Amino acid sequence: MRPASVEELVGGLAAAAAEAAVLAGGTDLHVKMRIGKMQPRVLFDISELEPLRRIRVQDGRLHIGAAVRMTEIAASQEVRRALPAMVSAVNEMSSRQIRNRATLGGNIVTASPAADAVPPLLAADAVVVLVGPEGDREVALADFVVGPGRTAKRPSEVVAEVAVPVGAMSRRSQFVKIGRRKAQAISVVNLAGCVEMEVDGRVRDLRIALGAVAPTAMRAHRAEAVLRGRRPSAGNLREAAAIAAQECRPISDIRATADGRRRLVEAWTLRMLQTLTGPASVGRGADQ
Ligand SMILES: Cc1cc2nc3c(=O)[nH]c(=O)nc-3n(C[C@H](O)[C@H](O)[C@H](O)COP(=O)(O)OP(=O)(O)OC[C@H]3O[C@@H](n4cnc5c(N)ncnc54)[C@H](O)[C@@H]3O)c2cc1C
Repeated sequence: MRPASVEELVGGLAAAAAEAAVLAGGTDLHVKMRIGKMQPRVLFDISELEPLRRIRVQDGRLHIGAAVRMTEIAASQEVRRALPAMVSAVNEMSSRQIRNRATLGGNIVTASPAADAVPPLLAADAVVVLVGPEGDREVALADFVVGPGRTAKRPSEVVAEVAVPVGAMSRRSQFVKIGRRKAQAISVVNLAGCVEMEVDGRVRDLRIALGAVAPTAMRAHRAEAVLRGRRPSAGNLREAAAIAAQECRPISDIRATADGRRRLVEAWTLRMLQTLTGPASVGRGADQ
């Protein structure tokens, strides 16, 4: 079914209850349906639902519609200006074919610990805007993803958009993806950071988000606290990176050992912090 409006979509979801699923790009959903992990009887196709396909900056926030595709995010001047780390993240996701279909909402609702769009949004303090039969509500992204494959979304709710406060902090942002190869690789570790510097060179505020090293993407709050209010030095940048590695809770799997992941977090957090707090830092991504 192709609902003509968000109201029709929400009404349809409420009526069909557990029998229904939202179909966006289908890059996760079709895989799950093929292996029998999800067996919806009704699909609501939102891939062309116009109100969910907009990117705009309004009232100091960048709004990215849930049905916006990764290639569209990568091409957006608004996103590039407001949150450069997001452009790096979507450009490094999978292959062009997947990026042409995959949407932001699908990436967030799938709730993979390794989802590449999540760390830059988490570092930027994003909120998820949900629409349901009782109206709209906003949930901090940090509270929205509650475990692998689990979110705070109710069955009859749809993710309408993600909103990110825009400012000096979001503009000085970076994303790093470490995968086992250049394309079509799930992240072994991914990370993102945002920083705002004082004119005297001290760190006014800093956020570090880590992915694929805990059941959900996570903020490294203790590492952030090491640098807040201080002038970056070789010593305190190394200390922050080491604490980020202690804070994460990785597992060993086919892609890496837990210890290997910790070492990647330490090395790449250090590199990211050096770049972010250095002189010409805006928007540079890195990959492996
Ligand atoms: C070969 C391959 C490579 C991949 N590589 C990567 C990668 O490198 N990095 C990465 O992060 N991911 C990767 N993925 C995963 C996937 O492409 C992304 O998670 C993608 O963003 C999912 O978006 P979608 O629009 O295809 O979601 P769909 O498959 O359409 O939906 C996914 C889930 O979200 C629900 N949903 C979707 N939109 C909404 C909404 N607006 N409101 C409520 N529920 C919704 C659906 O019901 C479904 O449960 C890969 C997948 C494949 C198949």
